[in-house]
Formats: sequence, C-alpha cells, structure tokens
Amino acid sequence: MNRYWSSVVRGLEPYVPGEQPKISGLIKLNTNENPYGPSPRVLQALVDEAKDTLRLYPDPNSDRIRAAVAAQYHVRPQQVFVGNGSDEVLAHTFLALLNHELPLLFPDITYSFYPVYCGLYQIGFRRIPLTATFQINLDDYTQPNGGVIFANPNAPTGMGLPVSEIGRFLERNTDSVVVIDEAYVDFGAETATGLVGRFPNLLIIQTLSKSRSLAGLRVGFAIGDEGLIEALDRVKNSFNSYPLDRFAISGTVAALEDNDYFEKTRRKIITTRDVLVEDLQRLGFEVLPSQCNFIFTRHPARDAAELALALRQRSIIVRHFRQERIDQFLRITVGTDEECAKLVAALTEILRD
Ligand SMILES: *Cc1c(COP(=O)(O)O)cnc(C)c1O
Repeated sequence: MNRYWSSVVRGLEPYVPGEQPKISGLIKLNTNENPYGPSPRVLQALVDEAKDTLRLYPDPNSDRIRAAVAAQYHVRPQQVFVGNGSDEVLAHTFLALLNHELPLLFPDITYSFYPVYCGLYQIGFRRIPLTATFQINLDDYTQPNGGVIFANPNAPTGMGLPVSEIGRFLERNTDSVVVIDEAYVDFGAETATGLVGRFPNLLIIQTLSKSRSLAGLRVGFAIGDEGLIEALDRVKNSFNSYPLDRFAISGTVAALEDNDYFEKTRRKIITTRDVLVEDLQRLGFEVLPSQCNFIFTRHPARDAAELALALRQRSIIVRHFRQERIDQFLRITVGTDEECAKLVAALTEILRD
C-alpha cells in the first residue's frame, strides 16, 4: 500500500498468472501453452514484417484479422472484434457489456480472471456452484442477472457443454449478454459461433494462444452481433487505438490461413492427451474427461500440493490451485509425447516413495 493509491487500486486482488520460469530445461506443463511452435508460415510472415514500415502505426482495427476470422467462422467482419490477447477482449467485454445493476453470474470454479475484472470495474457478481461432478448446469443460471460468462470447455475442469444446451439456455436468457470463453474449444469441444446469427446477446471469445501456438504474440478475438462488437470498439477506442502491432496482425493472418498445420498439431495433442489419461488412470489417478489441451486430475491417496512439489523437484511444473473444492487436483498441460512420458515416469517414481 502507498498513500497515493486510489481506492480502486487498494481494493484490487490481481490475477496471478502461472509461473514463467527464467531457468531453462524445465518441462513446463503449467500454463496450457502449445508444445508445438507456430506454423512456419507464421514465422515467415513475422520476418517479412520486419522492415521500414515499422515506423508507421499498424491498422487500428486489425481489419485483415477481422476478415480472416469472418471467413473462417462464416460471419461478417462487422461481427468480429480483435484484441491484445483474449484477456484484453475479456476486459473490454466486462466493462462494455457485463457492467450492470444485477449481478454477473459465473461458475464457482472457472477462469480465475473473471472475478478480477469484476474487482477492477466494480461489477457485482454471484458464483454459481458447479455440480458435484464439476459440470456447469445452465438451469442454475436462469435467474435475474446482469450477464452470464463461462468458459466452454470450462477451465480448469476441462469439460464442455454441447451447443444444443447453450442454445436452449439462450432461448430463455434474452435480457442480458451471455459470454462464452472458448479458449480451448479446438481441442475437442463444439464452438457456439453458429448461434451468433440467432442471438443478438451472444458473444464468443477465442484466443490464438492455445490451439494456434501463439501465446507470445498476444491475440484474441470475439464474435457476436454487430451491436455488441460496436460496444467493444467504443471501449477499445477509448483505451488504446492500436492494441495489435504489425507483427501480431501479420502473424495472426498467416496462422488463420494455415489450417493444415493447425489440424495436424491439434490432432496430435488430442492423441497425446488420450494416452496420458490412460497412463495416469493406470497409476490410480482420477482424471476428469478433458476436451482441452490440459487434464484435471487427483490421486485418492496423495496430497496435490505435495505431488506438485515432488514434480517440481524433478524439473516438471504443473498448476495447483489453492481453492476450495479443487485443492486436491492438479491441472497438467498436455505436452509432447516425450514430455508426457517423462511426467508419467516421474509420477510413477513419486508414488513408489
Ligand atoms: C488462456 C485463457 C485465456 C487467455 O488467453 P490469452 O488470449 O492468452 O489472453 C482466456 N480464457 C481462458 C479460459 C484461458 O484459459
């Protein structure tokens, strides 16, 4: 605390991102990055961008990305918003669309940035408990609200809802915006982007950080009704007109154009995940069914924090949340086959002690 701080800053409880260790040689399975590098076409696009034109501002509206996303998801460019990582898209969404008198609803266990944005913008919220099997039950959200947000598939549980269920919920919830954070949708769930034309209050948010291997480039986007996108543009243009630099714009367009590479890497991760789940189950772990590039798991006989520490001593980092209901779980990113084999070998050894 410092006496010059505003009361808002005094009250903030900032998000704590997973560790980005400065030492090399660690097997890093803690922040759900893609174990494979970006498409070679992305790398070439970035090289091509390193030229004299860097003295000029980038396109403030990232129109090439909007067009590429629109083509991919069969929507109009006016139905697309682009931001500096989906975290920035989320931040603008909270301010522009979820900031109302009635409380915002989200699951008790979900992306832990949501309550942080509520703190930043002073938005009242209510946490809706997941079911006993850690699922979202949308019937629990049919109550007066100033907005609804959840991740689909949810994080850190890894489980998703079918789009049909989301559609049925949207038919009942027409007075507030429903935001679906699809950060992991490409790893085995169903995108709700097809519903955008039917529901003017639906906003889908996706990121290039996970399935497109571009966490370091910081690009996310939203798809929704033009009216919602206009609200996001108003906030963006009141905050930072140039959120994406020239590299981010060119790299993202190249990534969205290389769907062969995208398909190849995402399928590889899904295959590796399925093998990892079987290996962990053989070691006695309970693993929630995952549609993501991570798994959420607990061992009935071992404390999760101790397991995380023992893995760390073997140079493997995973994520442990000290949070009610899930403090005996570990969230483990699906790495390469080799990394996952090392993880399983380390756990085998730890469980023997
Ligand atoms: C990783 C993640 C994000 C943030 O992604 P960025 O685009 O890297 O900011 C948003 N939501 C969820 C649920 C995530 O896991």
